[in-house]
Amino acid sequence: MEWLPLEMIAFDADDTLWENERYYQEGRQLFEALLAKYPLSGDLAALLDATEMRNLPVYGYGVPGFAFSMIETAIEATHGMVSSRDIQALVDLSKQMLTAEMALFAQAEETVARLSAVYPLMLITKGDLRHQLSKLERSGLKGYFQHVEVVQDKNSQIYADILTRHHLAAKRFLMVGNSLRSDILPVVALGGRAIYVPNSLTWSHEQVEPPETAWGRYYQVARLGEVPGLIEQLSTETS
Ligand SMILES: [Mg+2]
Repeated sequence: MEWLPLEMIAFDADDTLWENERYYQEGRQLFEALLAKYPLSGDLAALLDATEMRNLPVYGYGVPGFAFSMIETAIEATHGMVSSRDIQALVDLSKQMLTAEMALFAQAEETVARLSAVYPLMLITKGDLRHQLSKLERSGLKGYFQHVEVVQDKNSQIYADILTRHHLAAKRFLMVGNSLRSDILPVVALGGRAIYVPNSLTWSHEQVEPPETAWGRYYQVARLGEVPGLIEQLSTETS
């Protein structure tokens, strides 16, 4: 595939630049521990998963929707026996998740700093608008990004809209992220470039098998810090 000079490099945020899924996993553990004292109908983790999936079109991605899903699941699984004290504990848990300390991945800052010296950078993240902007503010990385897009979902149509809005050709756009489903495959489908940086903690919802049509059409590195070197190598090899 011909490599054209890049006009924009975009980064996913959650679980690409900073920890995110860890807080959800801790939240799920606390949720299960809190409800362990009740006689429960069904497998709590599976019930919560199902509630979250059912609620995604209603609340979208992010902590507020997760909080409502925990409360709904708690009521359902305990047949309405869950106490208001325990509901309050779930509300408190979600507030803690919204204000949790930012934990940047190793090399996150040097990676975006190095690339921002050469390319305009964009952050593309999905989830709750207020929470995502607050995290970017607290991350210390905001100054490296020329554009920030907080979107409802990440599919090819949404990426196509972003490209149109910023007058970008797909072939000159590269996306970096930890989710094949959200960051890599929809961009590749448009003819864009993508670098997949897998994370050991990735939400099951984001885990997909890449279709054959995507094979060989994106790059993969083990660590975020390898991204600038790979881009440099690809740019010089083909120019
Ligand atoms: Mg992510």
